[in-house]
Amino acid sequence: MSQNRVALVTGAGRGIGAGIARRLASDGLDLALVDLTEEALSDTASAVEASGRRVVRIGADVSDRDSILAAADRALDELGRLDVMVNNAGVALVGPVTEVKPEDLERLWRINVNGVLWGIQAAAAAFRKQIDRGDERVVRKIINASSIAGHDGFPMLGPYSATKFAVRALTQAAARELADEQITVNAYCPGVVGTDMWVEIDQAFADLTGAAVGETYDKFVGGIALGRAQTPEDVAAFVSYLASTDSDYMTGQAGLIDGGLVFR
Ligand code: ADP
Repeated sequence: MSQNRVALVTGAGRGIGAGIARRLASDGLDLALVDLTEEALSDTASAVEASGRRVVRIGADVSDRDSILAAADRALDELGRLDVMVNNAGVALVGPVTEVKPEDLERLWRINVNGVLWGIQAAAAAFRKQIDRGDERVVRKIINASSIAGHDGFPMLGPYSATKFAVRALTQAAARELADEQITVNAYCPGVVGTDMWVEIDQAFADLTGAAVGETYDKFVGGIALGRAQTPEDVAAFVSYLASTDSDYMTGQAGLIDGGLVFR
């Protein structure tokens, strides 16, 4: 059985999740990777293997409770333990609050909120199995994706903001509920990351408001105190801390890692 710590990262196929998986592998963790399809995980899995770490690829939809519970079980079975669950997978939705369609809201909520909630349940269940079988008593960690939009309601991003506020609420409540089992629950709140998601958000603003392509992205980046958009690696460095034993005493927090865009 592996003595390496093990993390499961959802939405690890691209963007921030891929950055987190690569970083945790270089930190020495073995990785279970989840995305909608196994194929989507090829590049990330290769990078993890190149770091000399073991990897399990799992095609699963985080909004499907049974699938994500099974994914955490597979990580435990195939990698021997599970120490860290990163509930990273998410989708964006752009549009005015007054015009959001029920089916779009439903999908957004199922992935961004229900997906995190099922991820918390899956992690807690896997962590409890290890405690029940007498594994070493260590602090185990749940790390959830919130956003700057989880601290502030941006125009055209109202429903998305609502899901990210909800992630902070779940993070706080679960942190209190699970603390006596030595499980910490924290969130990370990125700002403007140059990923495909931001390309899609920028394009949606252009389609809906008549803004030029790139204008919305540039406007957001213009508000960043440190003067540049962030990279998945910037986010992953903070998640690395949240996943490490250095953060064992921290729980219930939702840390902004945004270059100074939202101050709380
Ligand atoms: P970000 O900027 O947050 O990294 P991306 O859209 O670039 O956003 O990446 C999000 C990742 O999450 C993608 O790889 C996507 O396939 C994955 N993802 C989206 N929805 C789900 C879902 N329901 N289940 C699992 N993975 C998902």
